[in-house]
Amino acid sequence: MPRHKYPSAYRVARLTILLALLPGAGSLRAQEQLFDLKKVTDGVYLAVAREAHVINSNAAVIILDDGVLVADTHSKPSAARALIEQIKTITDKPIRYVVDTHFHYDHFQGNGAYLEAFPGAVEIIASEPTRDGIVHRGIPRIKAEIIQYAEKVEQGKRRLAAATDEEKRAEIEKNLAGDQEYLHDLKNIGDVLPTMSFEKSLVLHRGDRVVQILFLGRGHTDGDTVIYLPKEKLICTGDLLHAWDPYMPDSHPYDWIRTLQALERMDFERILPGHGDVLEGKGQVILWRSYIQDLMKQVEKAYAEGVSEEDLIDKVDLEKWIERMPTLAEGAIPAHLRKAYREVSWEE
Ligand SMILES: [Zn+2]
Repeated sequence: MPRHKYPSAYRVARLTILLALLPGAGSLRAQEQLFDLKKVTDGVYLAVAREAHVINSNAAVIILDDGVLVADTHSKPSAARALIEQIKTITDKPIRYVVDTHFHYDHFQGNGAYLEAFPGAVEIIASEPTRDGIVHRGIPRIKAEIIQYAEKVEQGKRRLAAATDEEKRAEIEKNLAGDQEYLHDLKNIGDVLPTMSFEKSLVLHRGDRVVQILFLGRGHTDGDTVIYLPKEKLICTGDLLHAWDPYMPDSHPYDWIRTLQALERMDFERILPGHGDVLEGKGQVILWRSYIQDLMKQVEKAYAEGVSEEDLIDKVDLEKWIERMPTLAEGAIPAHLRKAYREVSWEE
């Protein structure tokens, strides 16, 4: 899977890692720096991922009568273990359900941490296409990244040995520490396969709480799952909808429009997204749906007028969306145009 075109800040090594490596830094202290566990309503939290060397997804944490459900497991087992420790500060109940909202690395690679922490007692739930995506793309990518990151670490060591400038050395050291930590995680990733899959929906009835795990249709990937709490009027959306801009390379844009329309028709007041903070109302659903519609419409028109993929950037106007979707300014537009052009023209 191509790398997420997320804001550069999210790809940069941060103080978090350095602090975590300091002698005497307690494990909880390091863990607390990975997520802000925000209470959304009684028994429902959003673990908002802080910036990290390798991006982590958020996790939704839903407390049930007999245990806890966690949606998404970040990019690495160490991050999942950190969240497991953080969850212990809000409940004594065991984690019994984990949902992978889709197959991208930053949402499932921590699965193994849950299987290890709650052996035989936790189900990892995914839609059938998401489980397939993990089998056919997610796991091969982990293996490829072990090779790539081992090379990166060696390269970092060579650069560090050659660097003389203090500031430069500090930067290389920071990146090297992040790469080494991620490589260690990848090598010790454990079992990541979902243990339970569903086609359209899976509903948990647990005391007063009803949790609907739903596949509404293809969108950002072919298997995006949402988790709906009808009584609380809350919905967890993974990357089908989040607080930044859409990541499109694995998407099905025309289906995505329809799936967002289906989402818009549902009765909810707040969204727990895969990235960024809690979203109020349906504004972001409408924004993403309108943006993808506009992108496709403009590309259809340009293609019909004989515009080539290379010239597309001069013929469409997507800059106008930056004001309402600031992360778009960080380089996603060319990738969106490429995806849209190939979708419209069905060219290789
Ligand atoms: Zn993501």
